[in-house]
Amino acid sequence: MSAQIIDGKAVGAQVRQQVVDEVAALRQRTGRVPGLATILVGEDPASAVYVANKRKACAEVGISDFHQHLPATASQAEVAQVIEACNANPEVSGILLQLPVPEALDATALTASILPDKDVDGLTPISAGRLLQGVPGLRPATPQGIIVLLDHHSVALEGARAVVVGRSDLVGKPVALLLLHRNATVTLCHSRTPDLAGVCAQADVLVAAVGRPDLIGSEHVKPGAAVIDVGTNRTPEGLRGDVDFAAVQDRAGWLTPVPGGVGPMTIAMLLRNTVQAFSAQEDGP
Ligand code: NAP
Repeated sequence: MSAQIIDGKAVGAQVRQQVVDEVAALRQRTGRVPGLATILVGEDPASAVYVANKRKACAEVGISDFHQHLPATASQAEVAQVIEACNANPEVSGILLQLPVPEALDATALTASILPDKDVDGLTPISAGRLLQGVPGLRPATPQGIIVLLDHHSVALEGARAVVVGRSDLVGKPVALLLLHRNATVTLCHSRTPDLAGVCAQADVLVAAVGRPDLIGSEHVKPGAAVIDVGTNRTPEGLRGDVDFAAVQDRAGWLTPVPGGVGPMTIAMLLRNTVQAFSAQEDGP
């Protein structure tokens, strides 16, 4: 059996098209469009590329751009002031502080100062709490994108055994909670988990969000499982996921490639979050 390859590019493009239509409808209904403030501090080249891609994607779907670029020498108070100004600006629906910020800054405090209703990365403590409790709120983009991919392929989540490898606030924990809210039975693994392969091999849905190329081999995969590879590892052979694609593709039922799987969903879901934030600010949640 060969796994069905989950095409994140195609699904991401569909989500973007939905956002185009929603922005057009909002423009017609309210005379306004959603706006996103990306905040970049310093000159980290990878961060600059990520932010440029997000701004380009906004322009393509009709979301207004309120980008702010501060020098690497910016103080905590200066960055906080920019966030406050965005919080107060009614034209800014969503705020994204690009991480990592320079070491001298307290990223946790800065992130926490973003108004939860504009927190399109879903990383503030309030957004995390809303996710934990399963009440409406903005969810982190990558985990949401994973659920959209699974739903797109009608992978059964209710009652499924789901294993998530990696427990970051950005991916592992939120995707585990989203799966739990969909009534999967969820196990969260990390670097201290004994017998990782044995635990993973029980999963109907396996999500790898670690950052170690080829950590997940065929021995980690239950035949027919849905395997979602979040890993983005730059290696001398190019971009690799956490899953050994060649070893797993004849064993899994569904499999995301790297690149072209989860990656394209992240920006698409950020755009969707920005529209959601705008609508909630217009209409109330
Ligand atoms: P992270 O904060 O570094 O977390 C990595 C997690 O993996 C930690 O919980 C760590 O466990 C666990 N881990 C490390 N080695 C392990 C091992 N040998 N066995 C089991 N677990 C292990 O990383 P992240 O931010 O979640 O990102 C994970 C990967 O996803 C990275 O490659 C990142 O680039 C990628 N990513 C991709 C997208 C996308 O859009 N495609 C978005 C976000 C992230 P401990 O907690 O015990 O240390």
